[in-house]
Amino acid sequence: MGLRKATLINAVTRRQRPYRNNHPLAIPRTALAIDLIRAYDALNEDEILPGRVAEVEELAWFHTGDYIAALRAAEANGALHHEDRARYQLGTVENPYFEQMFTIPARATGGSIQAAEEVIAGRIAFNPAGGMHHARAASAQGFCYFNDPVLGILRLRQAGWRVLYVDIDAHHGDGVEEAFLADPEVLTLSLHMDTAYAYPFRGGRLADCGSAQGGQSTINVPLPQGTHDAEYRLLFDAVWEPALEKFRPDAVVLQAGTDMLAADPLGKLNMSTECFLDIAKKILDTSPRHADGTPRLLVTGGGGYHPLLLARAWTGLWALLSGRELPAAIPAAGAAALRGADWLADEDEPYFSNLFASRVDHPEPGKISKQIQRIAEDIPRHPYFRT
Ligand SMILES: [Zn+2]
Repeated sequence: MGLRKATLINAVTRRQRPYRNNHPLAIPRTALAIDLIRAYDALNEDEILPGRVAEVEELAWFHTGDYIAALRAAEANGALHHEDRARYQLGTVENPYFEQMFTIPARATGGSIQAAEEVIAGRIAFNPAGGMHHARAASAQGFCYFNDPVLGILRLRQAGWRVLYVDIDAHHGDGVEEAFLADPEVLTLSLHMDTAYAYPFRGGRLADCGSAQGGQSTINVPLPQGTHDAEYRLLFDAVWEPALEKFRPDAVVLQAGTDMLAADPLGKLNMSTECFLDIAKKILDTSPRHADGTPRLLVTGGGGYHPLLLARAWTGLWALLSGRELPAAIPAAGAAALRGADWLADEDEPYFSNLFASRVDHPEPGKISKQIQRIAEDIPRHPYFRT
């Protein structure tokens, strides 16, 4: 298999460590993934595009002028305005103040707009710094300041395309769902930890179908704690192809957060890197195509709070998207980059010399819980499939 036309957006200009040490995002993420990809020599110079900062007018396709101005002012003044903290959920533990708190998220967002333009131009695009799916039009939520998936989708909509958004991050893609509730040309599909036990603690139920505007524009698959590979595959297969066939999108946007992986410190699911990559491959193989066969697929990063798991999963993902086969044994330079992440790998350490393996050891690997079985039976009864 030859290389596909694929672009990796590098929306991190240098090693950014903007968050305080106790924040889950105070770890190397995109830069580490790109280091590992380069260690594999799996990125040609004509495949990488530096991310650009989104223009204020672009951010305003979705975000309110007041909210954008508040972030710009915080960056310019080196501090948040007191009133802006409560008004926009800024300066909280979840959405802390940091230097360049406008520029860094605006660059991740510019990257997703560029990714959309690459897809329109006939290439697959991957923006690992993107995937900030919780941000709202007028507030930050859940570590997310600007909602780059929404803006990437809006760029595809400007080309007149119908978009299927699929979110495999461990958390409900609530900000993207909310943004497109009233747009019948965008279908959002999210598989995530049930909000009965996980952030954002509301919405995201199977029954929540976004019928507020009279249409059904969203499909949610809540996952029980400890959902493992065989269970995830069962639910994904129950929902993916039926959604694709019914909606018939012009393009697919995949939010590929890695916090669904077993060892993630914030995730409570039990999936392997191999399963993550299999799901991404199914999406790649079934996405709509350009005339030359290139998938019309935009991929963003997302959550993922275990840097070694994340870098390995996104390296495997880039290989898949770009049409490369990588050996499982991580090259010496890659191993050095992972060690340099300064992360206490504890019980997972023995697995980190292999790109695809991880610590998932089910006593009965194929056993599907009754709860999962029930969800699989309920999916075809979802209003989207019935109408
Ligand atoms: Zn997440």
